[in-house]
Amino acid sequence: MTTLYENFIDGRFVPADPATAIEVHNPASHVLLARTASATPDEVNAAVDAARRAQPAWERTPAIQRAGHLRAIATKVRQNKERLAEIITREQGKILGLALVEVDFTADYIDYMAEWARRIEGEVLTSDRAGESIFLMRRPIGVTVGILPWNFPFFLIARKMAPALITGNTIVVKPSEETPINAFEFARLVAETELPAGVFNLVGGRGADVGAALCSHPDVGLISFTGSVQTGSTIMQVAGRNLTRVNLELGGKAPAIVLASADLDLAAKAVVDSRIINTGQVCNCAERVYVERAVADEFTEKLRVRMAATRYGDPMVDADLNMGPMVNQIGLDKVAAMVSRAREQGAEVILGGRKADRPAGFHYEPTLITGCTADMEIMRKEIFGPVLPVQVVDSLDEAVALSNDSEYGLTSSIFTQDLNAAMRACRDLRFGETYVNREHFEAMQGFHAGSRKSGIGGADGKHGLYEYTETHVVYMQHG
Ligand code: NAD
Repeated sequence: MTTLYENFIDGRFVPADPATAIEVHNPASHVLLARTASATPDEVNAAVDAARRAQPAWERTPAIQRAGHLRAIATKVRQNKERLAEIITREQGKILGLALVEVDFTADYIDYMAEWARRIEGEVLTSDRAGESIFLMRRPIGVTVGILPWNFPFFLIARKMAPALITGNTIVVKPSEETPINAFEFARLVAETELPAGVFNLVGGRGADVGAALCSHPDVGLISFTGSVQTGSTIMQVAGRNLTRVNLELGGKAPAIVLASADLDLAAKAVVDSRIINTGQVCNCAERVYVERAVADEFTEKLRVRMAATRYGDPMVDADLNMGPMVNQIGLDKVAAMVSRAREQGAEVILGGRKADRPAGFHYEPTLITGCTADMEIMRKEIFGPVLPVQVVDSLDEAVALSNDSEYGLTSSIFTQDLNAAMRACRDLRFGETYVNREHFEAMQGFHAGSRKSGIGGADGKHGLYEYTETHVVYMQHG
C-alpha cells in the first residue's frame, strides 16, 4: 500500500477520501509513489476559515516570536535534508544534487525571512499642520493563499509562507498536483513544531477546482501565485471579482546575449548550465541566444560540445547525471512539437531534437537549434525543456531590440568584457532581472519580478516582504 497523504487544516491532518486522491508517479520510472488528498469544497472553506481565525492572534504575537517559529521549521527542514531531497527527485525528476541545493536554499530562505522580524519598519511623516504627527504603519493583509508550480516545489512553499508569516499573515498553501508529496511532508514537519493551529494550512488538489475555490474565496486577502501566464491571467480575473490582491510570478523567455567581446568559454558554460538545469524547466533559464555574427560559429560549436556532454537518465539510479526527465508526458510532447515546428519553419537542429530512446521516463535529448529567426515560435514562446535556439545578430542594439520584443520580461543576460556594452544593455533591457557574465540564479535578498506578462509584483528581499503588507496611515492631532 502506498501512503495516502492528508490535508493539514487548523493544526491537524484531516482523513482523506482515497477515491478522490491524486496519484503521484515518478517521471523517470512511472512508478506510483503515493497518493495525496484532494480537498473538498468544505475543506477549502475550513482551511481559509482556520487561517482567518488564527490570524489576529498571530498578528499580535511579537514578530521576534514569529521568527522563532519560522526558525524551528527551518531546523526541521535541515534535519530531514537528505530524505526531502530524495522525495523531490523522485516526484519531480531533478537530479539529487539540485534537490539537495533546493532543500538547503529553502531552510536558508526561511531563516533569512525570520531575520526581518526586527526590521519591518513603518515611517514617521512630516505634517503640513501644526501639532500633528503622521505615522505610516505596515500591517499584514490577513489570510494569504500560496499556489505553487512543480518546478521548484519545495522552495516555493518557503518563498510564499515565510514572508507571509513573518509579517503577521496566515496562509493556505496548495501545491501543484504534479509534485504534492514534498509539500505534504513539509506540513508534517510544521506539525512537529509549536506553530499555532491555523497559521499554516495545506490543501491538495487540482487547479481548476481546489485552486479556483481558494482564489475566489472572499476571505482571502492576497493570492501569491507562481506558474504559467495562462493560469496567472485566469487567477487575476477570478480575484478581480472580490478585488483580492494578487502577486504573480509567471513564465519567462530569457534572452542570453553573447557579444564578440565575450569570454566565450564562460558564456557557453553559463548558457548551457542554465538551459540544462532542472531539464530546462526553470522560469528564468536561458530560453533563446542572440550571438554576434563574428563569433557565431565558434560560440555555437562551444555550445554544441557542452550540450553533447550532458548526461541524463533516472537520477535515483545514476548519481552522476546533469539532468533527469521532464516532469510529465504533456511537457515532453509540447517540447517535441515545438522542435518539429521549428524544423518546419526552417531552423536547423544540430544536436538532439528527439524524445530519448529510453525504456521509461519523460526524457528529451539536449537539443541545439541554429538558423533561428525572430518570427519563429521557438524564439517567442516558452519552451520549458532542454532545447536551446540560437539566432545570429549584427549588433548589441539588434540583440536588445529582439530581446525586448517579447511578451515575457522576467530574466535576461549579457556576456561581454566590454564595460560600456554591459552598461548599455543593463540600461536598455526591459526585464525584471539582468545577469552580466554569469548564470541565472537569483539571490534571496534581491527582488525576483517580471515585466510585461511575466508577472505582477515580485518576491524576495525587502521589496518582496512588503508585498505581504498593506499600509495604514495614522494622522494624530495633538496639543
Ligand atoms: P501552472 O500554471 O500549470 O500551475 C501552477 C499552479 O496553478 C498549480 O498548483 C495548479 O494546480 C494551479 N492552477 C491551475 N489552474 C488554476 C486555476 N484556475 N485557479 C487556481 N489555481 C490553478 O504552472 P506549472 O506548469 O505548474 O509551472 C510552470 C510555469 O511556471 C512556467 O510557465 C514557469 O515559467 C512558471 N514559473 C515561474 C516562476 C517565476 O518565479 N516567475 C517560477 C517557477 C515557475
